[in-house]
Amino acid sequence: MAHIIIDKERCKGCELCVPECKWKLIAMSKEYNRTGYRYAEFSETNGKCTACKLCAIACPEIAIEVVK
Ligand code: SF4
Ligand code: SF4
Repeated sequence: MAHIIIDKERCKGCELCVPECKWKLIAMSKEYNRTGYRYAEFSETNGKCTACKLCAIACPEIAIEVVK
């Protein structure tokens, strides 16, 4: 099943990936990573991720890996 893996320690909390997902599968955490940023989290619900890569392309930190 298509999904993404977010490296939470690489994430800088910029939130650019969040609006890229039309399925709203990405949200920001309430927790902080080791660098002190809230990080993006993937919330797969019904296999909606299409592996479109828009979130990964938007990420300036290259913190998102798309898996088909
Ligand atoms: S790859 Fe596409 S569908 Fe999957 S989480 Fe990223 S933006 Fe959403
Ligand atoms: S675009 Fe990248 S750095 Fe910005 S919140 Fe999303 S995963 Fe984190």
